[in-house]
Amino acid sequence: MPLHAVRPKILGFISEQASAWLVALVVFLVGMGLTFIVAWAASDLYQQQARQRFQLLVNERYSRLQERFDDQEQRLGGLQRFFDNSHKISRKEFDGFAQPLLLRTWAYVWAPRVFRDQRKAFEQQVSRERGLPFAIHELDETGKLVPAAERDEYVPVLYSQTQNILGSPLGFDLWAQPLRRSTLERVQKSVKLAVSQPMQLVGVEPAYAMGVLLVAPVSRAATAQGPQKEPYGYVIAVISMRQLVADGLPKPGRDNLVMQIVDTSDTQQRVLYESGNTLAQSSLEATRRLTLGDHVYALKLRPSRVFEQVNHSSAVSILSMGSLLSLLLSALLYVVMSQRQRALKLVEQRTGQLRQREQELRAAHGQLRSVLNAATQVAIIATDLRGVINTFNAGAEQMLGFEVEQMQGHVPLENLHLAPELEARAAQLSRTFGKHIAPSHAMLVESGDNAHEAREWTLVRKDGSRLTANMLATALLDDHGLWVGYLAIYLDVTEQKRAYEALAARDRLLKKLSAHVPGGIFQFTLGPHDNWRFIYASDGIRDIYEIEPGLLQQDAQQVFERIHPQDTERVRASIRLSALQLSHWREEYRVQLPQRGLRWIRGEATPEELPGGGTLWHGYVSDISDLKRVEEELRALSITDSLTGIHNRRYFQDRLRTEMIRVKRASGGLAVIMFDIDHFKRINDLYGHGVGDGVLQELCRRISQRLRRSDVFCRLGGEEFMVLCPNTDGAQAFSLALELWQGLRSTPMDGVGTVTASFGVASWRGDEGIDGLLLRADSGVYAAKQAGRDRVEGERLPGTS
Ligand code: GH3
Ligand code: MG
Ligand code: MG
Repeated sequence: MPLHAVRPKILGFISEQASAWLVALVVFLVGMGLTFIVAWAASDLYQQQARQRFQLLVNERYSRLQERFDDQEQRLGGLQRFFDNSHKISRKEFDGFAQPLLLRTWAYVWAPRVFRDQRKAFEQQVSRERGLPFAIHELDETGKLVPAAERDEYVPVLYSQTQNILGSPLGFDLWAQPLRRSTLERVQKSVKLAVSQPMQLVGVEPAYAMGVLLVAPVSRAATAQGPQKEPYGYVIAVISMRQLVADGLPKPGRDNLVMQIVDTSDTQQRVLYESGNTLAQSSLEATRRLTLGDHVYALKLRPSRVFEQVNHSSAVSILSMGSLLSLLLSALLYVVMSQRQRALKLVEQRTGQLRQREQELRAAHGQLRSVLNAATQVAIIATDLRGVINTFNAGAEQMLGFEVEQMQGHVPLENLHLAPELEARAAQLSRTFGKHIAPSHAMLVESGDNAHEAREWTLVRKDGSRLTANMLATALLDDHGLWVGYLAIYLDVTEQKRAYEALAARDRLLKKLSAHVPGGIFQFTLGPHDNWRFIYASDGIRDIYEIEPGLLQQDAQQVFERIHPQDTERVRASIRLSALQLSHWREEYRVQLPQRGLRWIRGEATPEELPGGGTLWHGYVSDISDLKRVEEELRALSITDSLTGIHNRRYFQDRLRTEMIRVKRASGGLAVIMFDIDHFKRINDLYGHGVGDGVLQELCRRISQRLRRSDVFCRLGGEEFMVLCPNTDGAQAFSLALELWQGLRSTPMDGVGTVTASFGVASWRGDEGIDGLLLRADSGVYAAKQAGRDRVEGERLPGTS
């Protein structure tokens, strides 16, 4: 079944073909998308929550402030009623009443109305009451308290109850200040509670100075007769906005809200209070109306930075967490996918390899089968570990006559072998290994020393006939190296053995024959690359060259080292020529032997061309030193005069011919001195032929003594002699002739007295031949005879006689 058919999908839906990168990217993008949606939803929720919280805070703050505002009104109302209901209130009573009311109120003040005419009496009365001087004051331009100017009405501060350490500005005329005055006037008119415009309070710490005055009129109680009278004074709550609004609330640094109170009744819309904390970046805002007296204030509330910090949106963390998770998830998926894909690819690759291996194995198996069956000349037999045959190839069938069906799986290998041979081998192996080896395994066990070497065995055919086979046995191992059986390969060597034996017999014959042949016989090759080699060299070669024949088969050079240096090149050249022309080789040459010294050798061989190039010679070499010696002697005899021992006429003629050639080719002269014994016949006649012979010998000895090494002395016949003088001109020859003549005649010979001779001299001239030269010499002798003998006749010109 193909692998991809059963391949599951990653996480149930991702195809494995998909790129891991792509999947990781898609997952990342989806994750990021989801993250954004969640973040957006969370942000929306946050907005709602923040709004709700803000509203709660706003409501709480508003109700608290409004409560405080109402509270201020009520307290002042209480003080007003206290005044309304009392005829006269002393300072002490005021203090006693106002003191407990001082809650978030800077001060309570009682300021009666004093008219121009009452001022003096009033000041005096108060001074009296207080025991301290008292005067109505007002602020001048520089802000200093000065006695108030004359005017119709004053509203000086008479009683004041404050927690402030600065105390209260007693005597300070409220009527003098336009802002205060306008408030008082409003109260006077409406006879109701009124609130001043925002102002800088007098006698208040600067931080708390911004505030308002809450003023209530104090009148005589209304009577049934008439309407309520104008107020005769005012009770005033001095309200510092900061004290009223901020005290008891969280410090600005911790407050969730940024607060601003604006006086909406004021045309200038002045800001009465502003908390100093930082605004949040938010659109949230709430405005409430606060009422105090006849004034309406706008309470503007906005979230502060603290609010923002406390209620920070989780969107950012959701975004970062979501991104991180998406990234992690996509990375994880990428790793999982890529690892899985890698693993699958590896599996696929391995499967492919296995399939290929299987095919290769099949092919190899098929090939092996074909090889087994094609090897018809070789018996290939495999056995299991017990030695039972399980493979029997076509070659084995042909060699042994058994059929494969008969053999495979039934017959042990030993049945094919000759039993006594197996037993003998088993016994030998048992001795070698020191343990029992069964005959049935004797042919399979390697002896150790020459493992993997073929052994010769006698096999028995189906028809009972025998054959000799070379067998190579090896152990069969499976893939894991476990021994599963044996492989035996048999090669029928019966014919080969027969041929070998015939060859060996021939070899012996050759050896015997060659032993009886003088010299040595050989096979010699000259290869295409100029390599000289002896293929065969009989034992006789050893005597010829004093070299072991075996060594020559490797290198023929040693033979050439034995050959005389003067003959080496000639021998080589003749061999090459014989190879070139395929002509019979015959050469005589000298060898210098370590033991027997210089010897003459004759070699003869017949060449034939080798198929691959090169030449093969069959031939023999023999020692011809004796023959050479005889030959030399014969040659010496043939050119020597037997009586006198000097050269004979033949030699003279040969030598003269050679010298003529030389002198014609090169420069230098050539001369001959010829002489004839005078009256020799008489010596014979007088002393006998024997004495005559002695005279001839003595003469030759004397003449030879006087000649130079280069001169050639010959007996032409009878008592005629010739001296051949190479490199000699006529004059030199003449003086030599005189010398010889003198040497002969100066000393008498024993028994016969003085023997003389007549000499003729001739030197070679460029234009004449041998005959001309000899004729002139002969003419010289003749002339000497004619002139009376016993003299040297100088050179004669041709044509003279
Ligand atoms: P001439 O002065 O004119 O030369 O007189 P001759 O007697 O020397 O010359 P002739 O030619 O008449 O005689 C030569 C003799 O030399 C004849 C011969 O018997 C002799 N003779 C030649 N060969 C030999 C030899 O080998 N031994 C001896 N003993 N005598 C020889
Ligand atoms: Mg003579
Ligand atoms: Mg003569």
